[in-house]
Amino acid sequence: MTPSDIRDIRRSLLRWYAVHRRPFPWRRTRDPYRILLSETMLQQTQASRAAEHFRRWLRRFPTVAHVARAPQSDVLRAWSGLGYNSRALRFHALARIVASRRPVRFPSTPEALRELPGVGRYTAHAVACFAFGAAVPVVDVNVRRIVSRLTRRPDRTGAYVPEEEAWRIAERLLPPRRAYDWNQALMDLGATVCNARRPRCGACPLARRCPSAFSPRLAEPVKRTAKREPMWRGVPRRLHRGRLLTFLHGGPASAPQLAAGLWNDAAQKDVEWVEGLLGRMCAEGLLRKERTLYRVA
Ligand code: SF4
Repeated sequence: MTPSDIRDIRRSLLRWYAVHRRPFPWRRTRDPYRILLSETMLQQTQASRAAEHFRRWLRRFPTVAHVARAPQSDVLRAWSGLGYNSRALRFHALARIVASRRPVRFPSTPEALRELPGVGRYTAHAVACFAFGAAVPVVDVNVRRIVSRLTRRPDRTGAYVPEEEAWRIAERLLPPRRAYDWNQALMDLGATVCNARRPRCGACPLARRCPSAFSPRLAEPVKRTAKREPMWRGVPRRLHRGRLLTFLHGGPASAPQLAAGLWNDAAQKDVEWVEGLLGRMCAEGLLRKERTLYRVA
């Protein structure tokens, strides 16, 4: 990409974003607590669903100090419906660390943010940019896909550049004085136009400079190599975990009682499976076991 390509790509995408930006509640704030909360919720959750939970969560926990003071069971209850509860536990641990500082303050650089529990490279860069205005790239899977397609013709839909290279390309493309809008714009483009399966090149502001534009290879199916999600009785394990937590928010219960809550015709092998799952949830710190009863930790 020549400097002139880069200038044109920046200008075209920022113009498109000014018209097409999605109005999420976390885009109306620079509060690092809210930004970090939104980024935690957005991991493995659709943005529209995360937006509903985000508003509800803030009514219950308006500041990081409110989260830090709450017992773990309240945090898990507020998280219910989002799934992947380990995110809630890490967010709770993180809130306690930040709230214990005097003055209470979030770190502002990617390096310092990465020292908090559950904060990886992507999240650290997102918070540094969206809350503190740092001119740093923010590379998630959508951005990696866009920069891959922008810099070479694809072999097949899923052929992205290696992660390190994606960060380097994103760094080159970043307009230092518009980092916030630029990073948000890339995310919107990845979610609504340059999507994984059927990119809408006809609606893309970058089509003029994109070597992958309108490539028939982008429409080819991707070979799936992902592991199948563990199931029991035809239902993914994570859904059973969510239902068990919902039952246990109502009070402690034993494995046979919980199995009977899940299935009217629960057999011994169902009870054993539930016990195994409860054991894992105890090991992850979500539950506690007292004699034969399980409760939310
Ligand atoms: S032209 Fe097509 S492949 Fe290229 S960035 Fe736009 S949507 Fe993606």
